[in-house]
Amino acid sequence: MKRIAVLGAIVASGMVAVGVTAQGLPGITEIEHVNGNVYKIFGAGGNTTVFVRSNDVVLVDTKLPNSGESIMAEVRKVTDLPVGMIINTHSHPDHMGSNNELSGDGVEVVAHVNSKARMEAEGGPFGASPVDTSFSTQISLGEGDDRVDVYHFGAGHTDGDAFVVFPSARTMQAGDIYAWHMSPLIDPGSGGSMLATPTTLTAALYSIPDVDHVIQGHGGVSTWEEFRSFVQFNRALVATAEQTAQFGGTPEAALERLEREPSFAVFLDHKIKPGLEYGGTPWSRALINLRVAFQELRGEEPQLIMGVEDPLQE
Ligand SMILES: [Zn+2]
Repeated sequence: MKRIAVLGAIVASGMVAVGVTAQGLPGITEIEHVNGNVYKIFGAGGNTTVFVRSNDVVLVDTKLPNSGESIMAEVRKVTDLPVGMIINTHSHPDHMGSNNELSGDGVEVVAHVNSKARMEAEGGPFGASPVDTSFSTQISLGEGDDRVDVYHFGAGHTDGDAFVVFPSARTMQAGDIYAWHMSPLIDPGSGGSMLATPTTLTAALYSIPDVDHVIQGHGGVSTWEEFRSFVQFNRALVATAEQTAQFGGTPEAALERLEREPSFAVFLDHKIKPGLEYGGTPWSRALINLRVAFQELRGEEPQLIMGVEDPLQE
């Protein structure tokens, strides 16, 4: 049930994003240069990262279904090389929805083992999406300047989150554990965990070398220092949940404690990010994730919470 819930919610909001751009929600936008041979395409689901190698193109994530042609139209603005590989950061349909449109002859599809299991499951609204190569903790693909390193450090947004690193461009795509520079949506139906998120993020921060540019799962591109501040916020969110819970406090009380730290203001503000497809303000996401953390601390099965009202929303 919960899996269907998140798929439905993401796809419903995403479909609006694709079809009703008049309301200000984004369709696919112009391909943007990030660094070196790495580019990014925003809209119609999660960011698609484009990595141009010597003989082919690597795509990371393929947006909602029916985005294949639009993605290729943007790719063709920077290269005529064929797509040779698709890497999926996780199994949600706004990140792998157009895999089947783009993964013709000889295209290798790569995902974490837990994502592969979900992507290949029959019976979902979009049918199965095959994965050729899977990994548990780390895999390196290609050589020299063409090399891509893919890491998994544990649960977060889902239990199959991949960090995809392009060493020659000092660039990483983080997937939805880091989207919109606010605390991530947690999808417990896909194995996501708020309590695990800080450890997973800290491992990425500690283990992944030499990255300057971090492409968010949705949204923009951050510096490594901005990513570090995001990791620190999520560590504080869970630590504060634990400290508050042990004295019988509430998620709301924990949120008030977080609000006393000025450096966390950007993660607790009351503005909707321009182009946001689903979810609410950073403040509302923080409250949601405190509630999820408390559910996990109580030993309850955590619930998918897509939104709560932010009374101060601007
Ligand atoms: Zn997702």
